Amino acid sequence: MNKEMSETKTVKHTSSKDVVISHPRARLKALSDFASAVVMDCNTPPQRYYRSGVEMIRMADMYMKDNDLNCAYILYMKFITIFVEKIREHPQYNSVPLKDKELNQQTLRTVIPKAEKLKKQLLEQYQAEYEKSLEDEKEKERLKQQELEKLREEEERKNKLATLAAVRAAKSTSTTVVSPEENRLKKVPSIAPKPLISTSTDIVAQTSKDKRTPTIDRSTKPSVLMSGNHSLRDMVLPTKLMQNFLMLAFSNTTNNKETCGILAGKLERNKLLVTHLLIPEQTGSPDSCVTYNEEDIFDYQDQHNLITLGWIHTHPTQTAFLSSVDLHTHCAYQLMMAEAIAIVCAPKYDETGFFTLTPEYGLDFIANCRESGFHPHPTEPPLYTKAKHCKLDVTAMLEVVDLRRK
Ligand SMILES: [Zn+2]
Ligand SMILES: [Zn+2]
Repeated sequence: MNKEMSETKTVKHTSSKDVVISHPRARLKALSDFASAVVMDCNTPPQRYYRSGVEMIRMADMYMKDNDLNCAYILYMKFITIFVEKIREHPQYNSVPLKDKELNQQTLRTVIPKAEKLKKQLLEQYQAEYEKSLEDEKEKERLKQQELEKLREEEERKNKLATLAAVRAAKSTSTTVVSPEENRLKKVPSIAPKPLISTSTDIVAQTSKDKRTPTIDRSTKPSVLMSGNHSLRDMVLPTKLMQNFLMLAFSNTTNNKETCGILAGKLERNKLLVTHLLIPEQTGSPDSCVTYNEEDIFDYQDQHNLITLGWIHTHPTQTAFLSSVDLHTHCAYQLMMAEAIAIVCAPKYDETGFFTLTPEYGLDFIANCRESGFHPHPTEPPLYTKAKHCKLDVTAMLEVVDLRRK
């Protein structure tokens, strides 16, 4: 209870003031700790980590371009943590093709110095921000003192005037007995300046409180590879995406077969933009869809510098929801990127669902569920929810790439 109260207080204080900047080294350490807390899941095949690694670096480069140095640094550090340390502990580490390991080593050789350089840059930036915050604090204090001094002077001036007025009044009434009267007047103690409440101790107490940045324990959460330490960013989808997808799924849909596609795109001005719909080689059934030759998709994404943002599939005869198999498929996407979405098109019901696993519960639950095929999951608390960070854009362009061999 006490802890809760003091935390609420801290938050209140922080929000009532301007941004509170903590010490540069502490800030950098918080970033590094966040990045190195990445947890390897031994049930995820190591190849998938190597694939994710390619996208992590791509995403980090996008952060750099977007001038988001914090997130870029986190991703480079996560990459280093995974591929210098953690991947070797994976039970199937030896099954990774040599080709992938070599490519990864090459990337490491460029990423490590990049991260070092970025670290210095961030430290300088933090130092400048820190010094400025100290300077601002001093300036605030100086202005406050100035204000107090002004009030004091004003008070003194008023007192003097009052005394003077009294002397004049006395003079005008009796001009003969000047000196004793004047003497008496002079002795009238000038009205003492009103005691000015000293706020200096309050200021000290407040600043020391504000220096305490509230910390959030993330160690219990599953590690989302691509994400920085911020809230969900908007995912912008071209409005025509669903219609285009339904058109190319049409013959499957009429034959009661599912169709699936990958949503790919980029990061721009802190928004995730779906720019490409990629249709992999696949075979569908009434309630499932299996993809083949994923390498084709990877190659295309590599050539066009695209990151994976989610997936889309049809439910030819059912409503728009996520089945237990869908939840497991989606989990891999969302562990890669916190904002990843699953779109379900249910043309028979004219329904479209934009879904995401609940970050505080569903993601962790499914990541730890070892069942496969269709199997029941508890329904409360909800494992998935509507993706509120999706924004449809009528003007956004979409490139459709159908890699199915007809
Ligand atoms: Zn489904
Ligand atoms: Zn399950």
